[in-house]
Amino acid sequence: MSPATVPCQYRTGKTLGSGTYAIVKEAIHIKTGKYYACKVINKKLMEGREHMVRNEIAVLKRISSGNPNIVTLHDYFETSHNLYLCFDLCTGGELFDRICARGNYYEADAADLLRTIFKAVAYIHAAGIVHRDLKPENLLFRTPAEEADIMIADFGLSRIMEEEKLSLLTEVCGTPGYMAPEIFLKSGHSKPVDVWAMGVVTYFLLAGYTPFDRDTPKAEMEAIIAGEYRFEPEEYWANVSETARDFVRACLTIDPNKRPTAQEALEHKWLASTTPHFVSTP
Ligand code: ADP
Ligand code: MG
Repeated sequence: MSPATVPCQYRTGKTLGSGTYAIVKEAIHIKTGKYYACKVINKKLMEGREHMVRNEIAVLKRISSGNPNIVTLHDYFETSHNLYLCFDLCTGGELFDRICARGNYYEADAADLLRTIFKAVAYIHAAGIVHRDLKPENLLFRTPAEEADIMIADFGLSRIMEEEKLSLLTEVCGTPGYMAPEIFLKSGHSKPVDVWAMGVVTYFLLAGYTPFDRDTPKAEMEAIIAGEYRFEPEEYWANVSETARDFVRACLTIDPNKRPTAQEALEHKWLASTTPHFVSTP
């Protein structure tokens, strides 16, 4: 992959979304007429760290073709101001919006989605990569269909952005709600942070709200460090099995060394069986 200096092979269209560091636009590859999602990252935001970005892009390119539920990076180029990353276009929107539209997910549907995501997470962890920014805004559906594949997006660059983001999130706005205790404690962190984040996503899928929502970022951070959350209000949890709750508890284990790995999470009985265990059999 040799980066072109000018992104002239693509024409960009409407904005698909924006995150902390980038704007993502729909882009058409002029020669082939194929549509992509083009992530435009302002180089100023990563001054002095461009080499890290290039490394990360190489890794991203290598791993993204190895699992069907990771958004594939197809192309990358840069101008003096921006980096452009062209990914598979996901037209089904963010998991975040589907949760909001539905209120919450039925347990069996949630387990199906989580099984797929955890398999992809186990795959990237086996490749030595930590996502570090798993949340429903970064989990996209490939198509608008109800049963569309879920895809992990916003990959790889988070390691580089991380320190900046931590101060940004705790000082200004945004939600650190998916960040593991060890990130705040600055005690060193790695793959277990992805499992924690998926624990928060699981809670969100089942209840329709997140476990560590507090009035201020400081209170939220303290709740996370103390692992302070409940399966309440009860009416939102009435239909959620003990097995599912146990899965959430395991992922939200404060000590990263005692937290299950992604592979172990897949072996938890809530995800291990595809037959919904909470339906009693005669
Ligand atoms: P950031 O690092 O700034 O959070 P993301 O990669 O998460 O950037 O992209 C921001 C938003 O753009 C996503 O939350 C999503 O709504 C949209 N987006 C990102 N990648 C794609 C894609 N491949 N297809 C469709 N929309 C996308
Ligand atoms: Mg994002």
